[in-house]
Amino acid sequence: MPRKRLTKQRTAIEEVFESHHRPLSPGEVHELARGQVEGLGIATVYRALNDMVEENILRAVDLPGIAPRYEKAGLKHHHHFHCNTCDKVFDLDGCLLKPDIRLPDGFTVLSHDITLSGVCPRCSKEQPSS
Ligand SMILES: [Zn+2]
Ligand SMILES: [Zn+2]
Repeated sequence: MPRKRLTKQRTAIEEVFESHHRPLSPGEVHELARGQVEGLGIATVYRALNDMVEENILRAVDLPGIAPRYEKAGLKHHHHFHCNTCDKVFDLDGCLLKPDIRLPDGFTVLSHDITLSGVCPRCSKEQPSS
C-alpha cells in the first residue's frame, strides 16, 4: 500500500544515506534529514527505516552492545568500526578475517561479523594524547 504522505520524508532519508557512507542510527538520520523536511519526527524516521528494511533498500546493522544502525542494502562485504567517544559507526574496507584461520574438524564458516571499536580520527584529534 503506497503511503503518499511519507514520500517527502522518504526522499530526504534516502538522500541522507546517499551522502553519508556509514551506518547511521535513527537519531543520526533524524538529525541529518530534519533540515530537509519541516516537522520531521523521530517516529516517522523509525517507521521509514523499518519500511526501507522490508523493501530491501536498507539493512539493519546489529553491533554488539550498541543500538542498531542502518546502512544501504547490498553493500560489498565489509566490517565496522565503532568509535567509543562519539558513538559513530564507520565502514572498513574489505575483509579482516585471516584466511588461514584454523577451525576444528567438521566446522564450515558461512558468514562472520567483525566489529572493531576504539577512537575515530576526529575524536583522537580532539583528545590530546599524553
Ligand atoms: Zn569519534
Ligand atoms: Zn569479513
